[in-house]
Amino acid sequence: MYNIAVLPGDGIGPEIITETIKVLQAVGEKCGLEMKFTEALVGGAALDATGVPLSDETLELCYNSDAILLGAVGGPKWDTLPVHLRPEAASLLRLRKELDLFANLRFVKLFPGLVDGSPLKREIVEGTELVVIREATGGLYFGEKKRERTAEGERAVDTLVYNTFEIERIGRLAFEMARKHPRKHLTSVDKHNVLASSRLWRDIMNKLAKEYPDVNLEHMYVDNCAMQLVRNPRQFSIMVTENMFGDILTDEASMLAGSIGMLPSASIGGKVALYEPAHGSAPDIAGQNKANPLAAILSGALMLRYSLSAEEAALSIEKAVNSVLEAGYRTGDIMAPGMKRVGTVEMGDLVAKSVKEEAL
Ligand code: NAD
Repeated sequence: MYNIAVLPGDGIGPEIITETIKVLQAVGEKCGLEMKFTEALVGGAALDATGVPLSDETLELCYNSDAILLGAVGGPKWDTLPVHLRPEAASLLRLRKELDLFANLRFVKLFPGLVDGSPLKREIVEGTELVVIREATGGLYFGEKKRERTAEGERAVDTLVYNTFEIERIGRLAFEMARKHPRKHLTSVDKHNVLASSRLWRDIMNKLAKEYPDVNLEHMYVDNCAMQLVRNPRQFSIMVTENMFGDILTDEASMLAGSIGMLPSASIGGKVALYEPAHGSAPDIAGQNKANPLAAILSGALMLRYSLSAEEAALSIEKAVNSVLEAGYRTGDIMAPGMKRVGTVEMGDLVAKSVKEEAL
């Protein structure tokens, strides 16, 4: 029996997590995997109910689980709160830090059924499949911040700090992933020409490269990378980068997969891994049965693969998602002419049904 901590969160979080559990239960029955799901509040929902966005009890539940499944946190209701109470900083960033989830892996895969719905031409985007490894517990989002009055007005400061060990451990993880990939190619993305932290980053990547002579290491500036992602996305297979660079590049890369609603992620590094869609709580469509649950459902598949070692069950979900897309079903964000529009719940039902029907 596997214990899964479930943190639905805010906005569309609870809607997409309901569909994910529906699909996980279907695959569990099919593959004989027993999973116990224990829900807890996180983010704005937790703040409203308990006064804190991430309670010690929730943290403990996470520590003692085999994996964590998260929806999304945040929303306009909490945007003006001081940073220690804001759902993203006080729950998600804290969760990553406390659980030592220093690597956020975002999987960008264009399902064949979505090629014609992509804003990019078929010949550019077809066959895109890459992983962005984003450093997730250091860098610009975790450095010292301050805002102060000056004689001229106000001044705000953010700091981008990296220690050798932080770069080394994310670098090693990236080289290991690249080593297992058929192309054995790693792109390290930095801003070496301007930032001191990027110069340390590059030095360490070069040092690690000597331990991985079978991996071809390439360095790329982040601004060039943003351009290359839409010019020729198939050149990439594994990419590793700083926290904010990775945040921005993966939102851009999500469009290669058709929508931000298609991008699953895994946060790893510590004892327990966390799985969540790459998107936010989408308050503009929350509660309207419009959200695409596939990023969350595919995050569930990653959980099966990486935390439960249930490769067959993970593949079964990925095959089911592919079949539903091939059959022409689309949520609003990936809708194209001639396709069949469905809502969040219907999409979850279709994937669960397909999981049950498909042969292993
Ligand atoms: P967002 O990802 O929530 O939404 C951006 C756009 O994408 C919106 O138009 C939204 O409707 C759309 N979208 C996102 N997910 C979708 C889905 N599954 N299906 C269909 N459309 C989808 O980003 P945002 O608007 O910048 O942020 C909204 C809130 O979420 C903010 O409070 C932000 O801080 C928070 N946030 C949380 C996380 C997280 O929990 N991991 C990540 C990013 C943003």
